[in-house]
Amino acid sequence: MTKASIQSITNWMEQPTHSPLLISGPCSVETPEQVLDTARQLKAQTPISLLRGGVWKPRTKPGSFEGVGAEAMQWLIDAGRAINTPVTTEVANAQHVEIALKAGVDVLWIGARTTVNPFYVQEIAEALRGVNIPVLVKNPIHAEIGLWAGAIERFQNLGISHVAAVHRGFFSSSKSMYRNAPDWQHSFDLRALLPEIKIICDPSHIAGDRGLVSEVSQVAMDLGMDGLMIESHVSPDDAWSDARQQISPEAVGQLMKELKFHNDVPIVANEELAQLRSELDQLDAQIVDVLRKRMHIVEDIANIKDREGMSIFHMKRWMKLVGEHSNGSEAGLSDAFLKELFSTIHKYSVELQTSLIKKTK
Ligand code: PEP
Ligand code: MN
Repeated sequence: MTKASIQSITNWMEQPTHSPLLISGPCSVETPEQVLDTARQLKAQTPISLLRGGVWKPRTKPGSFEGVGAEAMQWLIDAGRAINTPVTTEVANAQHVEIALKAGVDVLWIGARTTVNPFYVQEIAEALRGVNIPVLVKNPIHAEIGLWAGAIERFQNLGISHVAAVHRGFFSSSKSMYRNAPDWQHSFDLRALLPEIKIICDPSHIAGDRGLVSEVSQVAMDLGMDGLMIESHVSPDDAWSDARQQISPEAVGQLMKELKFHNDVPIVANEELAQLRSELDQLDAQIVDVLRKRMHIVEDIANIKDREGMSIFHMKRWMKLVGEHSNGSEAGLSDAFLKELFSTIHKYSVELQTSLIKKTK
């Protein structure tokens, strides 16, 4: 790929203000025709900055299609060249890196099942010593922010100067309409930890269902994500992997047309917003004041429990506290919100009492 087009990716990673980056292409590179047709149709629909395609597929269950392997690397490169667009693929070990670099890949990505393992991440980072190719790091399967930030840092420590994160959602044991729970808060946490790192959303792996890809993409834009990685296939139903969540190039074009992009104005420039934010700030201060008063009472109770030799945690009391406050509908709040809030308040109350009583021993 020409230097100029890769430069558009590295520039995007460096700029504080930018327009969202679009990465699209099939989940897996299946045949030379499939990836080339997908690439051409995508290009005809909407400008894409990077063509994606999985050559090695980390599948949860053995026996499913695990990627064509090395041979497909060249097919992806050829498809990218045909539409004059840089390409990216997933690498999960040093051998993948070697093959991908030899073939001339432009950007690498680290999959969710690899980010969970610092040994693999380190091995890949070592294999890239002295190469300085842009790397995209997907969030680990489970919501451990330290692993995500740690993987990014491992690449940076080995001299990779262009690293971005990909938010692809998290495994969750609770039933949901999504394949992977978005848990957007984790992206905010990553931003707080590494403010200079761009975060791209992968709505396809969050949604797991093609009917939900556009709404997840919109939420990502509403939340200020820096780009999208969308799986697309010329014939989604026939895809060899992730068939349910892939969308046609035409659907990618439609999605991009309908997506509302935001042009954030500085807070002070919008008076109505500034007024409402100031009201929120006042309410937040009141909440903190109420919690402070509540904690003083918790302290007094700790003294009584200590004096009377009572245990700190009382199951009945806990059930009452959480139970009484878990019916939020009356207050126009969700039950789950109140339950979580009061569980947290109770947890820190118990912690405070434990530390106070320990001190008197
Ligand atoms: C993929 O992008 O096709 C993929 C396997 O993603 P993840 O690592 O997010 O599951
Ligand atoms: Mn996939």
